[in-house]
Amino acid sequence: MTKVLAALLALTAGLQAQQFVKVSAKTVALVHVKVIDGAGAAPRTDLTIVIRDGLIATVGDAGNVTIPDGAERLDLVGHTVIPGLVGMHEHLFYPAFPRHNLYTEHAFSFPRLYLASGVTTARTAGGMEVQTDLMIKKWIDEGKWIGPSMLITAGYLEGPGTFTPNLLEMRNPGDATAFVEFWARMGATSFKAYMHITRAELKAAIDTAHARGLKVTGHLCSVGFREAAALGIDNLEHGLVVDTEFVPGKQPDQCPDMTAADIEALDVQGAGVQQTIRELVQHHVAVTSTPAVFESAPPLQQRFLDALSPPTRVEYLLARDRISESAKRASANRVKKEIEFERAFVKAGGLLMAGADPTGNGSALAGFADQRNIELLVAGGFTAVEAIQIATLNGAKFLGMEKQIGSIEAGKRADLVVIEGNPAAKIADIENTRIVFKGGVGYDPAKLLESIRGSVGVQ
Ligand SMILES: [Zn+2]
Repeated sequence: MTKVLAALLALTAGLQAQQFVKVSAKTVALVHVKVIDGAGAAPRTDLTIVIRDGLIATVGDAGNVTIPDGAERLDLVGHTVIPGLVGMHEHLFYPAFPRHNLYTEHAFSFPRLYLASGVTTARTAGGMEVQTDLMIKKWIDEGKWIGPSMLITAGYLEGPGTFTPNLLEMRNPGDATAFVEFWARMGATSFKAYMHITRAELKAAIDTAHARGLKVTGHLCSVGFREAAALGIDNLEHGLVVDTEFVPGKQPDQCPDMTAADIEALDVQGAGVQQTIRELVQHHVAVTSTPAVFESAPPLQQRFLDALSPPTRVEYLLARDRISESAKRASANRVKKEIEFERAFVKAGGLLMAGADPTGNGSALAGFADQRNIELLVAGGFTAVEAIQIATLNGAKFLGMEKQIGSIEAGKRADLVVIEGNPAAKIADIENTRIVFKGGVGYDPAKLLESIRGSVGVQ
């Protein structure tokens, strides 16, 4: 009986997934498209991409590519294809309004928001319900649920002084070891160190993770970037504007208050920051760019309001009205300073990736914030081609998956985003996702968004 029930449930889940599929043929030709390949090449026009059995079979000039018999042919004049985004700071939780120090799991809406926005691979950067995150990953892998391919980061490895009761405080390095051992055993493939961790705890976590071939990232505060790099951390989240090592009077293992003035005082071209950049590059520490979450009041979009539950919408708009002009200025400065650092880091040979971080004051939403990051990176001086590479191939490289995903190349998985317009000319076109291919299956972003209308803030 239970077997029959399980089979029936699997069938129902499969049918539910089916209603979001726009293109399901085994062989598909995307004809007359512009391509931004994710690997940094100049955009090319009038290409044809052939997808077969979930992989990219051919990419070439439309005039030269023979479309296989029986292929579903999509004429896409006026559209651009980019690789599926590799979101490196994703979460399946969102701040609970009206107070922002509690977070609720968004297992239902967020995977769909990510996929609808073009994110086909999502590395979480910490979870409030790591067990739920792991189950969502499993159900997506099994085809029961819809969402990006997921890689789960367990965390938070946090110490006493945390700002939210969602996080359990460690007491010593032994707790860090036990935490990593447990979640590694349960399927987590990376770990997130947080603001009040000590150097000894961070070292214990890194050593335990590395012994299993797994990685550690961090949003640090008590530990400076250079200290963390020397301890062997693999990745730092958010970048310079959370690096406390330049805050006057910083004590070891203590998280100081970092004020807007401290951020203002950071000199990217100065000897101190340049030394940090050199050490991060030497130690192969990647940085995850998250400018969208630093924006206190980004342009208000209808699609964002539509995604929110009615009470969340009211709370969000009231809170947004109360943001002071000085807070808005500080937020703009933070974005500017951070991207200035990121450009210097990339110039020095550093690996820069990007992710949504749907936290903060609720303005950064799963998926939408991944797109917003790309727009902010371009506003900050990266080219569209560079910004798209940061959001695609660079993350794939960090994950060791660059042979499978991250760029548009024959043989790679057909994780592709069909965009109406041309992001190389107008970066906001990145929001116009029309089909999102994951493993060769083309999902309908509009239907995915419709299915989560009014959900954010609830589930
Ligand atoms: Zn985060």
